[in-house]
Amino acid sequence: MVHIEGDRLDPVASISSCKICRGTAPLCGVVDFNKNCEERRGHFLPLAAIPIYYHRCGECGLVFTHAFDRWSKHAFARHIYNAAYADVDPDYIAARPAANAMAIANMVARGDGLKCLDYGGGNGRLAALLRERGVDAHSWDPMEQAGTEPSPDSFDLVTAFEVLEHTPEPRVTVANALSKLRPQGVMLFTTLTIDTLPPRAMDHWYIAPRNGHITIHTCRSLDALFEAFGYRVHHLDQNTHLALREVPDWLS
Ligand SMILES: [Zn+2]
Repeated sequence: MVHIEGDRLDPVASISSCKICRGTAPLCGVVDFNKNCEERRGHFLPLAAIPIYYHRCGECGLVFTHAFDRWSKHAFARHIYNAAYADVDPDYIAARPAANAMAIANMVARGDGLKCLDYGGGNGRLAALLRERGVDAHSWDPMEQAGTEPSPDSFDLVTAFEVLEHTPEPRVTVANALSKLRPQGVMLFTTLTIDTLPPRAMDHWYIAPRNGHITIHTCRSLDALFEAFGYRVHHLDQNTHLALREVPDWLS
């Protein structure tokens, strides 16, 4: 954001350092804060008159903004994850947890008594649905004010659905999520990877500050991010990814 103090004009830095690989990341565009994912279905909010600048790493392709780097949990809760959030992410409340619960239940049925953590699970709906299906499932969201952080080295499976695009600190978030895994544990997560941006990059529907989409990945950025912690990532499709160090018996 542009800050003007006295006669000093202090714009956003034109070149930044990638939050994942530390590569050179020039500015790649700017959108209004109210740009949201539902615009592809015709749902436009009035302009907020708050410009959000994004950088793009020339090495791994990560698209990220520094606009929210100093926000507190309270600021996110007030301006993004507020009562109007469901208007820009209508699947958040029920449809996405229901679909994900089915897939996870089928996956963990391959093992015996596996312990699961839904990381960044928001309202805890997914974990509740999994418990109804007999899965030992827990939920914890670092953005929520309440709840006790689960112990490290405790889970066979950590899931993180639509989480990684929301963090301004990808390394911190992934380190925290992976710390919950037992040595043979795996992390299943979704975030849309955009490996090739169109010339008018900021028009892409997924680059949406009002949805809290502030860190947009590529396959390369995810690979680099998890490799730093000794994990390799299998990209199951453009949106679904599995990180592991070794294949556990129940997945082999
Ligand atoms: Zn990078």
